[in-house]
Amino acid sequence: MNIVLMGLPGAGKGTQAEKIVAEYKFPHISTGDMFRLAMKNETELGLKAKSFMDNGELVPDDVTNGIVKERLSESDVVNGFLLDGFPRTLKQAEALDNILSALNKKIDAVININVDPNVLKERLSGRIICRDCGSTYHKLTNPPKNEGTCDRCGNHDFYQREDDKPETVENRIQVNLKQTEPLLNYYKNKGVLFNVNGEDDIDSVFGKIREIIEK
Ligand SMILES: [Zn+2]
Repeated sequence: MNIVLMGLPGAGKGTQAEKIVAEYKFPHISTGDMFRLAMKNETELGLKAKSFMDNGELVPDDVTNGIVKERLSESDVVNGFLLDGFPRTLKQAEALDNILSALNKKIDAVININVDPNVLKERLSGRIICRDCGSTYHKLTNPPKNEGTCDRCGNHDFYQREDDKPETVENRIQVNLKQTEPLLNYYKNKGVLFNVNGEDDIDSVFGKIREIIEK
């Protein structure tokens, strides 16, 4: 079974990917790992990708697609794979279909872990750090035992990293939403999109994913 796993930042995609791979033994193919491997093996495409990254530039689609194609041509994907972090754009999705049809394969399911953007915002912007000792907490999931007081050093001064501030988080979510929407529509029209409610606890979400995979 060939699966694409999708979800906005904070939706729990990484956690679910680990669970899927542990249970079904599909190779977990993430863009980051693919790039690292191609660069480590110094393949032609790997070296090309590296030259763009070294210059702080985005790797162009034809290089990325080439790396994906090489990876999906390997023998360990015969019984299926879990693709994570690719495709990110509609163009990449179309390229992926071309790559797969040349290999006599297709995407069987696109599993989208769906979480309300407001919930994501709460999840992602909840991290606070003690200014004195650096201990990190989460306002919702891991708050200090006494509100406003650091468990470790007893001080009361907390701050947030720039990346975790609500405005920054909101912007990141909006950019991702805008990018993902055409992709989700594309897969919906092909009849392979499955939405899973990512607001449930980790095991319930995985239960839903298991139902989809086993159907
Ligand atoms: Zn502290």
